[in-house]
Amino acid sequence: MPRKNNAPPHQLFHFASNCQQKRRYVNEKMAEAAAEHQMLLQYDLELSVYKCDLCSGWHLTRRPRTK
Ligand SMILES: [Zn+2]
Repeated sequence: MPRKNNAPPHQLFHFASNCQQKRRYVNEKMAEAAAEHQMLLQYDLELSVYKCDLCSGWHLTRRPRTK
C-alpha cells in the first residue's frame, strides 16, 4: 500500500483501529515532551514514541519495565 502522507486523518481512521484511540502528536519532539511529562507524573510508567504510518503523526506506547 503506498504511503499517503497528505491524506486527511479522518479518512485514515477507518482502518486505523489502534491509531484512532491514541493521542496524536505532530512531531517527534512533541511526542517525547508529552512522554516525559507523563513519566514524571507516574513514576513507574515507561513510554516510548513511534511514528505512525496511518496518520503520519507520532504516538506514545507503553514500554514494559525491565527488571
Ligand atoms: Zn496514528
